[in-house]
Amino acid sequence: MPEATTPFVIAPSPQASIAVAGTCARFPVRRIVCVGRNYAEHAREMGGDPDREPPFFFMKPADAVTDGGAIPYPPLTSNLHYEAELVVAIGAPGADIAPGDALAHVYGYGVGVDLTRRDLQNAAKSAGRPWEWGKAFDFSAPCGPLRPVSAGGHVSPDARISLTVNGQSRQAAVMADMIWPVPAIIANISTAMLLAPGDLIFTGTPSGVGPLSPGDVVAARIDDLPPLDFSIAPGA
Ligand code: MN
Repeated sequence: MPEATTPFVIAPSPQASIAVAGTCARFPVRRIVCVGRNYAEHAREMGGDPDREPPFFFMKPADAVTDGGAIPYPPLTSNLHYEAELVVAIGAPGADIAPGDALAHVYGYGVGVDLTRRDLQNAAKSAGRPWEWGKAFDFSAPCGPLRPVSAGGHVSPDARISLTVNGQSRQAAVMADMIWPVPAIIANISTAMLLAPGDLIFTGTPSGVGPLSPGDVVAARIDDLPPLDFSIAPGA
């Protein structure tokens, strides 16, 4: 038998990655951590109490990221929802990061959408079961190109986040509406795990979430960050 020429018995999966504005090089994705209910109005529309809840988190697999384009309508759902979110890309490792040091761990920022099978998420909530089947499916984390901090600095609390479907406004808020701002989110996550280069944090969505149908065209924006545009592929 010929000797193996690599340490792997099967071909490794391709490295998940997202684009970086201003370069052909891409940002390799390690983990995706998402914040639940980080805008007060959205917490209320989901039936929560924004004044009492500490931040909580869920995760998506790294290969859920996609640049956009035509995203297939996922299986097992009849209530696919959009959630426009600021995405924070981690560039330096850290555990137990102090909020005052947190922004030094950021590589850059992007605009993402946390696609959600809301019917499966709601069923999981009701049954006290995990959220993965509602949140962690293929193509569930479209993300626009990152803007490195070295090129554009940090995102202002005044920056506006918005999402349109077929040109109709669905979500509009400012970063300052976040219950837990970016430094607090980074600090909190880093108490639970090592944050490492390649990690993405989806920082939660404002109110106005709603359903998508095959053929819909979605545009998510955060002021002058690179835009995210995608569509839901037409049905077969
Ligand atoms: Mn979300």
